[in-house]
Amino acid sequence: MHYPEPISKLIESFMKLPGIGPKTAARLAFFVLKMNEDTVLNFAKALIDAKRNLSYCSVCGHITDIDPCHICQDKQRDLSMICVVQDTKDVIAMEKMRDYNGLYHVLHGAISPMDGIGPEDINVPTLLKRLQDTRVEELILATNPTIEGEATAMYISRLVKPSGIMTTRIAHGLPVGGDLEYADEVTLSKALEGRREL
Ligand SMILES: [Zn+2]
Repeated sequence: MHYPEPISKLIESFMKLPGIGPKTAARLAFFVLKMNEDTVLNFAKALIDAKRNLSYCSVCGHITDIDPCHICQDKQRDLSMICVVQDTKDVIAMEKMRDYNGLYHVLHGAISPMDGIGPEDINVPTLLKRLQDTRVEELILATNPTIEGEATAMYISRLVKPSGIMTTRIAHGLPVGGDLEYADEVTLSKALEGRREL
């Protein structure tokens, strides 16, 4: 179908988002045309502001508007625990649960030799450096229950163990192959509670 150029551009932009195919993109584009101008301006501004004002915490890798992030700066937190997760969305899921009061480390991915992703390509070197500088007693490996997530947990555990830091793995109450971020709060809380030493 042939659209005027501004509409095709808008459709193309929506198609850059995950899970949005051409049909949905066209529906969203036409919806935007019907929105009032102020709403559209605010929407565009929110996109740009989010991109410009957010970055990753230099300590834990979580998304933040200040550096170090609110969690790393929080004096009430238990500094003896670090929970290692794959994605910044996992931190949000853990925080919603409210059962955990330690710190986090966001890997931004998992080790996957098939895809050519090694430990250096994710946030592992910063984790190792962080463990040298701080007095962490337990490292909770909360990577996803997928092949890559398990491999990443094992890899980190093997590296860290000689230093005397306890490494634990969250329990398999989580659906296998699922993402941490989709687990409900009770499941996540149980998975954390049932963690075992690696
Ligand atoms: Zn942080």
